[in-house]
Amino acid sequence: MKYDALIVGAGFAGTVCAERLASAGKRVLVIDKRNHIGGNAFDCYDENGVLIHPYGPHIFHTSGKRIFEYLSNFTDWRLYEHRVLAHLDGEFYPIPINRTTINKLYGLDLNEEGVKAYLESVREARNDIATSEDVVLSSVGSDLCDKFFRGYTQKQWGLDLADLSAGVAARIPTRSNDDDRYFTDTYQFMPARGYTAMFEKMLGHPNIEVRLSEDFRVLRSVVEREHTVYTGPIDAFFDYRFGKLPYRSLSFQHEHLTDVDQFQQTGTINYPNDHEYTRITEFKHLTGQQHSGTSIVREYPRAEGDPYYPIPRSENEALFKRYHELAEATPDVTFVGRLAQYRYYNMDQVVGAALKVAEELAQ
Ligand code: FAD
Ligand code: UDP
Repeated sequence: MKYDALIVGAGFAGTVCAERLASAGKRVLVIDKRNHIGGNAFDCYDENGVLIHPYGPHIFHTSGKRIFEYLSNFTDWRLYEHRVLAHLDGEFYPIPINRTTINKLYGLDLNEEGVKAYLESVREARNDIATSEDVVLSSVGSDLCDKFFRGYTQKQWGLDLADLSAGVAARIPTRSNDDDRYFTDTYQFMPARGYTAMFEKMLGHPNIEVRLSEDFRVLRSVVEREHTVYTGPIDAFFDYRFGKLPYRSLSFQHEHLTDVDQFQQTGTINYPNDHEYTRITEFKHLTGQQHSGTSIVREYPRAEGDPYYPIPRSENEALFKRYHELAEATPDVTFVGRLAQYRYYNMDQVVGAALKVAEELAQ
């Protein structure tokens, strides 16, 4: 059997490509080395019947109308606006930093203009914003940086803010108003029956065949196909020819609490300066599920393990560029997704990137 396309990885990148190509009449084989679809966005019920995200909390948010409308073909949605508190010295403060954060932390009663003036007085102006340290110091100054960002970043990445590209900390805005939502995107929804159900629907097209627990390293010379869409780590595809690209890993410690209706007040609580984990997420906030118990996950950053985050810093970007050049010289393979493009992409950005390449491929 010859396929029009072999798609490596059943996460967002691979699944969107598969669905688009199948809808354009192509015969597609999707493989994943894991025993499930969905990639890192996979969700499932734990042994106590609570819907959890085994690979850490996934909250969907986008301002891309096209992306939202595309996914709406495969799921209904549940309105959910994520909120996060940071735990500091026994107290909880909204993060992103907002008016409430500043007033509570410093015992002030500033209005919005007052907060703007306060931030203006503490921020350290920078001509060049190259690193995450530049981003944070130039927006909130050193005290707020040390309280909310430096420790968290060290824990999450094993690196100082000064050693990470600006884009990492720039994910977190600073606000002078009372908006305590983590994201301000136009569309903030969770798939009503979960991510896996949405993926099942996308992969349910009759032109798509899915084979799980199959590694590309084994099938690469076996499957007959016109084209390959590869969504795994790009350095692995090229057998680490230029050395390993650094990815950050995590260890997820899941826990179920029997007869606890609610463990914490918001979906996620960040621990910038205490504990070895960065954050705790309680899934029922995200999913709206009713259950007599509750399930939580703690995230422990790791240097080794499954690749979860590309590490945005200039030397890594330089190494990625070399792999990217090899990719450009491999026209029968399309590289797309967070690991293949080595970009700190959110889910919606992966969907956007996959829609774009799939459109080109379908022609
Ligand atoms: P993946 O989901 O990683 O899929 C790649 C797939 O390829 C994997 O299933 C892998 O098994 C498979 N694969 C790799 N190599 C091979 C091989 N050799 N053979 C066969 N299969 C292979 N984004 C948000 O928008 N909101 C969030 O709240 C959010 N939270 C996150 C929390 C955590 C802890 C993490 C790690 C990420 C989070 N993300 C979030 C980002 C989101 O997970 C990614 O943007 C998205 O899932 C990436 O999709 P992908 O298809 O590119 O990659
Ligand atoms: N960050 C931080 N303190 C926080 C939240 C975020 O220092 O309380 C920094 C940290 O470097 C983190 C980055 O901002 O890795 C991006 O945070 P985000 O919550 O977007 O990370 P993700 O959900 O992708 O792990």
